[in-house]
Amino acid sequence: MGARLCNIKSISIDASPLNLPSMTVVFDQALTKSQPLVTKFFVSAMDQGKLAHAYIFVGGNNRDKWLTVRQMALFLNCTDGEKATSGACGIREMDESKRCQSCRWIREGKHPQAWFELKDPDSTTTIIPVDRARQISAELSKTSSYKRVIVVEDASQEVFHRPAANALLKTIEEPRGVLLFAFFARSVEQVLPTIVSRCQIVPFRRDGEELVGPIALTSQGSKEVLSRALAEHRELVPLVASMKDRKFFEWSKSRASRTYGRHSEGESEHAIAVADALDFGKMITDLIDHDHDSDAVIDGAVLTEVEIIGNRAIKEPGMSAYLRDLLKLSEEAKTHLRRYVGKKAAVDCFVIDWTNLRSKTRA
Ligand SMILES: [Zn+2]
Repeated sequence: MGARLCNIKSISIDASPLNLPSMTVVFDQALTKSQPLVTKFFVSAMDQGKLAHAYIFVGGNNRDKWLTVRQMALFLNCTDGEKATSGACGIREMDESKRCQSCRWIREGKHPQAWFELKDPDSTTTIIPVDRARQISAELSKTSSYKRVIVVEDASQEVFHRPAANALLKTIEEPRGVLLFAFFARSVEQVLPTIVSRCQIVPFRRDGEELVGPIALTSQGSKEVLSRALAEHRELVPLVASMKDRKFFEWSKSRASRTYGRHSEGESEHAIAVADALDFGKMITDLIDHDHDSDAVIDGAVLTEVEIIGNRAIKEPGMSAYLRDLLKLSEEAKTHLRRYVGKKAAVDCFVIDWTNLRSKTRA
Protein backbone atom coordinates (compact mmCIF):
# COMPACT_ATOMS: atom_id res chain seq x y z
CA MET A 1 0.00 0.00 0.00
CA GLY A 2 1.79 3.14 -1.13
CA ALA A 3 0.94 6.58 0.08
CA ARG A 4 -1.94 7.54 -2.09
CA LEU A 5 -3.50 10.91 -2.27
CA CYS A 6 -6.89 10.27 -0.83
CA ASN A 7 -10.35 11.15 -1.58
CA ILE A 8 -9.84 14.86 -1.85
CA LYS A 9 -12.96 15.62 -3.78
CA SER A 10 -14.15 19.09 -4.34
CA ILE A 11 -17.77 19.76 -3.78
CA SER A 12 -19.28 21.80 -6.54
CA ILE A 13 -22.18 24.03 -5.81
CA ASP A 14 -24.60 24.50 -8.68
CA ALA A 15 -23.81 27.89 -10.14
CA SER A 16 -27.37 28.63 -11.21
CA PRO A 17 -28.87 30.96 -8.63
CA LEU A 18 -32.38 29.69 -9.24
CA ASN A 19 -31.30 26.18 -8.62
CA LEU A 20 -29.30 26.41 -5.41
CA PRO A 21 -29.15 23.14 -3.52
CA SER A 22 -31.89 22.84 -0.98
CA MET A 23 -30.04 22.82 2.29
CA THR A 24 -31.00 19.75 4.21
CA VAL A 25 -31.29 20.15 7.97
CA VAL A 26 -28.48 18.04 9.38
CA PHE A 27 -27.16 20.21 12.20
CA ASP A 28 -28.90 22.19 14.91
CA GLN A 29 -28.84 25.97 14.91
CA ALA A 30 -26.26 26.37 17.66
CA LEU A 31 -23.72 24.24 15.84
CA THR A 32 -24.49 25.87 12.47
CA LYS A 33 -23.75 29.20 14.07
CA SER A 34 -20.63 28.09 15.83
CA GLN A 35 -19.16 26.19 12.84
CA PRO A 36 -20.71 27.77 9.72
CA LEU A 37 -18.23 26.44 7.20
CA VAL A 38 -17.90 22.95 8.61
CA THR A 39 -21.65 22.45 8.75
CA LYS A 40 -22.17 23.86 5.26
CA PHE A 41 -19.37 21.68 3.96
CA PHE A 42 -20.99 18.49 5.27
CA VAL A 43 -24.51 19.48 4.24
CA SER A 44 -23.28 20.08 0.67
CA ALA A 45 -21.46 16.76 0.72
CA MET A 46 -24.58 14.93 1.90
CA ASP A 47 -26.88 16.76 -0.51
CA GLN A 48 -24.69 15.71 -3.38
CA GLY A 49 -24.02 12.19 -2.18
CA LYS A 50 -20.32 12.98 -1.89
CA LEU A 51 -19.69 12.16 1.71
CA ALA A 52 -16.23 10.60 2.08
CA HIS A 53 -15.85 7.79 4.58
CA ALA A 54 -12.94 9.16 6.59
CA TYR A 55 -12.30 12.63 7.92
CA ILE A 56 -9.77 14.20 10.23
CA PHE A 57 -11.31 16.97 12.29
CA VAL A 58 -8.49 19.37 13.12
CA GLY A 59 -8.42 22.41 15.36
CA GLY A 60 -8.95 23.04 19.02
CA ASN A 61 -12.67 22.67 19.57
CA ASN A 62 -13.47 19.13 20.72
CA ARG A 63 -16.97 19.98 21.87
CA ASP A 64 -17.99 21.06 18.36
CA LYS A 65 -16.27 18.03 16.86
CA TRP A 66 -18.37 15.70 19.01
CA LEU A 67 -21.54 17.63 18.20
CA THR A 68 -20.78 17.49 14.48
CA VAL A 69 -20.10 13.78 14.30
CA ARG A 70 -23.01 12.91 16.59
CA GLN A 71 -25.47 15.01 14.61
CA MET A 72 -24.25 13.41 11.40
CA ALA A 73 -24.78 9.96 12.91
CA LEU A 74 -28.30 11.00 13.94
CA PHE A 75 -29.11 12.28 10.47
CA LEU A 76 -27.72 9.22 8.72
CA ASN A 77 -29.67 6.77 10.90
CA CYS A 78 -32.86 8.56 11.93
CA THR A 79 -36.01 6.76 10.82
CA ASP A 80 -38.43 9.54 11.67
CA GLY A 81 -40.87 10.45 8.87
CA GLU A 82 -40.14 14.17 9.08
CA LYS A 83 -36.40 13.80 8.72
CA ALA A 84 -36.35 15.03 5.13
CA THR A 85 -37.98 18.34 5.97
CA SER A 86 -37.11 19.00 9.60
CA GLY A 87 -33.93 17.03 10.24
CA ALA A 88 -33.34 13.98 12.43
CA CYS A 89 -35.73 13.68 15.37
CA GLY A 90 -32.59 13.45 17.52
CA ILE A 91 -31.82 17.17 17.02
CA ARG A 92 -35.39 18.43 17.34
CA GLU A 93 -37.02 19.64 20.54
CA MET A 94 -39.23 16.77 21.64
CA ASP A 95 -39.92 14.32 24.36
CA GLU A 96 -37.11 11.76 24.55
CA SER A 97 -39.60 8.88 24.37
CA LYS A 98 -41.03 10.18 21.08
CA ARG A 99 -37.71 9.96 19.28
CA CYS A 100 -36.89 7.03 17.00
CA GLN A 101 -34.85 4.23 18.53
CA SER A 102 -31.70 5.01 16.52
CA CYS A 103 -31.70 8.63 17.65
CA ARG A 104 -32.30 7.65 21.28
CA TRP A 105 -29.42 5.18 21.24
CA ILE A 106 -27.02 7.50 19.43
CA ARG A 107 -27.85 10.34 21.83
CA GLU A 108 -26.91 8.02 24.67
CA GLY A 109 -23.71 7.08 22.85
CA LYS A 110 -24.62 3.40 22.84
CA HIS A 111 -26.08 2.38 19.53
CA PRO A 112 -24.71 -1.16 19.21
CA GLN A 113 -24.49 -1.06 15.43
CA ALA A 114 -24.22 2.57 14.37
CA TRP A 115 -22.02 4.26 16.94
CA PHE A 116 -18.44 3.27 17.82
CA GLU A 117 -16.01 5.15 19.99
CA LEU A 118 -12.47 3.96 19.68
CA LYS A 119 -10.76 4.37 23.01
CA ASP A 120 -9.68 2.26 25.89
CA PRO A 121 -13.04 1.22 27.37
CA ASP A 122 -11.64 1.05 30.90
CA SER A 123 -9.47 4.15 30.51
CA THR A 124 -6.66 2.26 32.17
CA THR A 125 -4.10 2.96 29.48
CA THR A 126 -3.40 6.09 27.50
CA ILE A 127 -3.08 4.31 24.17
CA ILE A 128 -5.83 2.69 22.15
CA PRO A 129 -5.57 -1.08 22.69
CA VAL A 130 -4.88 -2.97 19.46
CA ASP A 131 -7.44 -5.59 20.48
CA ARG A 132 -10.13 -2.97 20.61
CA ALA A 133 -9.20 -1.73 17.13
CA ARG A 134 -9.32 -5.32 15.82
CA GLN A 135 -12.64 -5.92 17.50
CA ILE A 136 -14.17 -2.84 15.87
CA SER A 137 -12.63 -3.75 12.54
CA ALA A 138 -14.24 -7.22 12.76
CA GLU A 139 -17.60 -5.70 13.65
CA LEU A 140 -17.38 -3.29 10.70
CA SER A 141 -16.59 -6.09 8.28
CA LYS A 142 -20.10 -7.47 8.84
CA THR A 143 -22.89 -6.14 6.70
CA SER A 144 -25.30 -3.81 8.44
CA SER A 145 -28.36 -1.84 7.52
CA TYR A 146 -27.07 1.02 9.67
CA LYS A 147 -24.80 3.85 8.61
CA ARG A 148 -21.92 3.26 10.99
CA VAL A 149 -19.99 6.11 12.56
CA ILE A 150 -16.64 5.57 14.24
CA VAL A 151 -15.03 8.24 16.41
CA VAL A 152 -11.38 8.27 17.40
CA GLU A 153 -11.30 11.06 19.93
CA ASP A 154 -7.52 11.32 20.05
CA ALA A 155 -5.95 10.35 16.74
CA SER A 156 -2.50 11.66 17.61
CA GLN A 157 0.06 8.95 16.97
CA GLU A 158 1.00 8.63 20.64
CA VAL A 159 -2.54 7.43 21.35
CA PHE A 160 -3.74 6.07 18.02
CA HIS A 161 -0.41 4.33 17.45
CA ARG A 162 0.73 2.38 14.42
CA PRO A 163 -0.46 -1.15 15.43
CA ALA A 164 -3.93 0.16 16.28
CA ALA A 165 -4.07 2.17 13.07
CA ASN A 166 -2.90 -0.81 11.02
CA ALA A 167 -5.75 -2.90 12.40
CA LEU A 168 -8.17 -0.43 10.84
CA LEU A 169 -6.44 0.49 7.57
CA LYS A 170 -8.17 -2.08 5.43
CA THR A 171 -11.58 -1.10 6.80
CA ILE A 172 -10.88 2.55 6.03
CA GLU A 173 -9.65 1.67 2.58
CA GLU A 174 -12.39 -0.75 1.61
CA PRO A 175 -15.40 -0.01 3.76
CA ARG A 176 -18.35 -2.36 3.75
CA GLY A 177 -21.54 -0.35 3.59
CA VAL A 178 -21.70 3.26 4.70
CA LEU A 179 -18.95 4.03 7.19
CA LEU A 180 -17.95 7.40 8.51
CA PHE A 181 -14.67 7.65 10.39
CA ALA A 182 -14.03 10.84 12.36
CA PHE A 183 -10.49 11.21 13.66
CA PHE A 184 -9.98 14.13 16.03
CA ALA A 185 -6.59 15.84 16.23
CA ARG A 186 -5.22 19.25 17.07
CA SER A 187 -3.23 19.28 13.83
CA VAL A 188 -2.70 16.98 10.88
CA GLU A 189 0.99 16.71 11.75
CA GLN A 190 0.12 14.72 14.89
CA VAL A 191 -1.57 11.94 12.94
CA LEU A 192 0.15 8.98 11.26
CA PRO A 193 0.70 9.72 7.55
CA THR A 194 -0.94 6.41 6.59
CA ILE A 195 -4.16 7.68 8.17
CA VAL A 196 -3.85 11.25 6.85
CA SER A 197 -3.44 10.04 3.29
CA ARG A 198 -6.79 8.26 3.48
CA CYS A 199 -8.78 11.12 4.94
CA GLN A 200 -10.26 14.46 4.08
CA ILE A 201 -9.19 17.19 6.44
CA VAL A 202 -11.81 19.41 8.04
CA PRO A 203 -10.56 22.39 10.05
CA PHE A 204 -12.72 23.45 12.98
CA ARG A 205 -12.85 26.99 14.15
CA ARG A 206 -11.72 27.63 17.67
CA ASP A 207 -13.80 29.71 20.05
CA GLY A 208 -12.87 33.36 19.87
CA GLU A 209 -10.33 32.78 17.17
CA GLU A 210 -8.13 35.82 16.65
CA LEU A 211 -8.07 37.52 13.31
CA VAL A 212 -4.69 37.47 11.65
CA GLY A 213 -3.02 39.00 8.61
CA PRO A 214 -3.30 42.41 7.01
CA ILE A 215 -7.04 42.30 7.01
CA ALA A 216 -6.98 42.44 10.81
CA LEU A 217 -6.03 46.09 10.40
CA THR A 218 -9.51 46.89 9.17
CA SER A 219 -11.02 45.81 12.46
CA GLN A 220 -8.95 48.37 14.31
CA GLY A 221 -11.18 51.18 13.16
CA SER A 222 -8.53 53.36 11.55
CA LYS A 223 -9.76 55.94 9.09
CA GLU A 224 -6.94 55.25 6.70
CA VAL A 225 -7.38 51.57 7.06
CA LEU A 226 -7.31 50.73 3.38
CA SER A 227 -4.33 52.84 2.44
CA ARG A 228 -2.48 51.56 5.48
CA ALA A 229 -3.22 47.95 4.65
CA LEU A 230 -2.20 48.47 1.05
CA ALA A 231 0.94 50.36 2.01
CA GLU A 232 2.01 47.52 4.25
CA HIS A 233 1.06 44.85 1.75
CA ARG A 234 1.96 46.08 -1.71
CA GLU A 235 1.21 42.70 -3.22
CA LEU A 236 -2.49 43.34 -2.66
CA VAL A 237 -2.62 46.51 -4.78
CA PRO A 238 -2.99 44.85 -8.20
CA LEU A 239 -5.45 42.34 -6.74
CA VAL A 240 -7.75 45.02 -5.41
CA ALA A 241 -7.46 46.93 -8.69
CA SER A 242 -8.46 43.88 -10.70
CA MET A 243 -11.38 42.98 -8.46
CA LYS A 244 -13.02 46.38 -8.22
CA ASP A 245 -14.91 46.14 -11.51
CA ARG A 246 -16.66 42.87 -10.75
CA LYS A 247 -20.45 42.98 -10.87
CA PHE A 248 -20.55 41.64 -7.35
CA PHE A 249 -19.02 44.86 -6.04
CA GLU A 250 -21.31 46.92 -8.26
CA TRP A 251 -24.15 45.31 -6.36
CA SER A 252 -22.62 46.04 -2.99
CA LYS A 253 -22.07 49.63 -4.10
CA SER A 254 -25.67 49.94 -5.27
CA ARG A 255 -26.82 48.75 -1.85
CA ALA A 256 -24.53 51.21 -0.15
CA SER A 257 -25.83 54.14 -2.17
CA ARG A 258 -29.38 52.81 -2.09
CA THR A 259 -29.62 53.02 -5.87
CA TYR A 260 -30.87 49.74 -7.18
CA GLY A 261 -30.16 50.04 -10.89
CA ARG A 262 -29.84 46.66 -12.53
CA HIS A 263 -31.05 45.05 -9.35
CA SER A 264 -34.58 45.39 -8.20
CA GLU A 265 -34.93 44.81 -4.51
CA GLY A 266 -36.09 41.52 -3.10
CA GLU A 267 -35.72 37.91 -4.11
CA SER A 268 -34.58 38.46 -7.67
CA GLU A 269 -32.03 40.95 -6.44
CA HIS A 270 -30.61 38.27 -4.20
CA ALA A 271 -30.59 35.67 -6.96
CA ILE A 272 -28.69 38.00 -9.30
CA ALA A 273 -26.29 38.85 -6.50
CA VAL A 274 -25.59 35.15 -5.84
CA ALA A 275 -24.87 34.61 -9.54
CA ASP A 276 -22.51 37.61 -9.53
CA ALA A 277 -20.90 36.31 -6.34
CA LEU A 278 -20.27 32.85 -7.83
CA ASP A 279 -18.83 34.54 -10.90
CA PHE A 280 -16.53 36.47 -8.58
CA GLY A 281 -15.77 33.17 -6.80
CA LYS A 282 -14.56 31.80 -10.14
CA MET A 283 -12.16 34.71 -10.39
CA ILE A 284 -10.85 33.96 -6.89
CA THR A 285 -10.36 30.27 -7.74
CA ASP A 286 -8.58 31.19 -11.00
CA LEU A 287 -6.22 33.53 -9.19
CA ILE A 288 -5.33 30.82 -6.68
CA ASP A 289 -4.91 28.31 -9.52
CA HIS A 290 -2.48 30.72 -11.14
CA ASP A 291 -0.16 30.69 -8.19
CA HIS A 292 -1.48 33.56 -6.17
CA ASP A 293 -1.27 33.04 -2.45
CA SER A 294 -4.78 32.16 -1.26
CA ASP A 295 -4.50 34.36 1.85
CA ALA A 296 -3.60 37.35 -0.31
CA VAL A 297 -6.46 36.74 -2.73
CA ILE A 298 -9.04 36.55 0.06
CA ASP A 299 -7.53 39.61 1.76
CA GLY A 300 -7.66 41.44 -1.57
CA ALA A 301 -11.35 40.59 -1.97
CA VAL A 302 -12.21 41.88 1.49
CA LEU A 303 -10.12 45.01 1.05
CA THR A 304 -11.96 45.76 -2.18
CA GLU A 305 -15.19 45.74 -0.19
CA VAL A 306 -13.59 47.87 2.53
CA GLU A 307 -12.74 50.44 -0.09
CA ILE A 308 -16.35 50.53 -1.26
CA ILE A 309 -17.71 50.93 2.23
CA GLY A 310 -15.11 53.55 3.13
CA ASN A 311 -15.39 55.37 6.42
CA ARG A 312 -18.93 54.23 6.99
CA ALA A 313 -17.45 51.04 8.38
CA ILE A 314 -16.36 53.04 11.37
CA LYS A 315 -19.26 55.47 11.67
CA GLU A 316 -22.23 53.14 11.26
CA PRO A 317 -22.72 50.29 13.71
CA GLY A 318 -24.58 48.15 11.13
CA MET A 319 -21.74 48.46 8.68
CA SER A 320 -19.01 47.81 11.21
CA ALA A 321 -20.87 44.68 12.36
CA TYR A 322 -21.09 43.62 8.70
CA LEU A 323 -17.38 44.13 8.25
CA ARG A 324 -16.56 42.23 11.43
CA ASP A 325 -18.63 39.26 10.24
CA LEU A 326 -17.08 39.45 6.80
CA LEU A 327 -13.62 39.32 8.36
CA LYS A 328 -14.60 36.21 10.27
CA LEU A 329 -15.85 34.56 7.09
CA SER A 330 -12.65 35.48 5.29
CA GLU A 331 -10.48 33.99 8.06
CA GLU A 332 -12.41 30.74 7.84
CA ALA A 333 -12.09 30.68 4.07
CA LYS A 334 -8.35 31.19 4.41
CA THR A 335 -8.04 28.36 6.92
CA HIS A 336 -9.97 26.05 4.61
CA LEU A 337 -7.92 27.00 1.58
CA ARG A 338 -4.66 26.45 3.46
CA ARG A 339 -5.80 22.95 4.28
CA TYR A 340 -6.86 20.50 1.65
CA VAL A 341 -10.59 20.96 1.68
CA GLY A 342 -11.97 21.32 -1.86
CA LYS A 343 -10.94 24.73 -3.09
CA LYS A 344 -13.98 25.47 -5.19
CA ALA A 345 -16.28 24.44 -2.35
CA ALA A 346 -14.48 26.67 0.11
CA VAL A 347 -14.56 29.65 -2.25
CA ASP A 348 -18.20 29.13 -3.22
CA CYS A 349 -19.25 28.88 0.42
CA PHE A 350 -17.29 32.04 1.18
CA VAL A 351 -18.88 34.15 -1.57
CA ILE A 352 -22.39 32.84 -0.89
CA ASP A 353 -22.06 33.50 2.85
CA TRP A 354 -20.74 36.92 1.97
CA THR A 355 -23.73 37.66 -0.29
CA ASN A 356 -26.17 36.57 2.40
CA LEU A 357 -24.41 38.74 4.93
CA ARG A 358 -24.44 41.74 2.60
CA SER A 359 -28.14 41.18 1.82
CA LYS A 360 -28.96 41.24 5.51
CA THR A 361 -27.12 44.50 6.05
CA ARG A 362 -29.27 47.45 5.14
CA ALA A 363 -27.39 50.19 3.32
ZN1 LIG B 1 -34.69 9.87 14.78
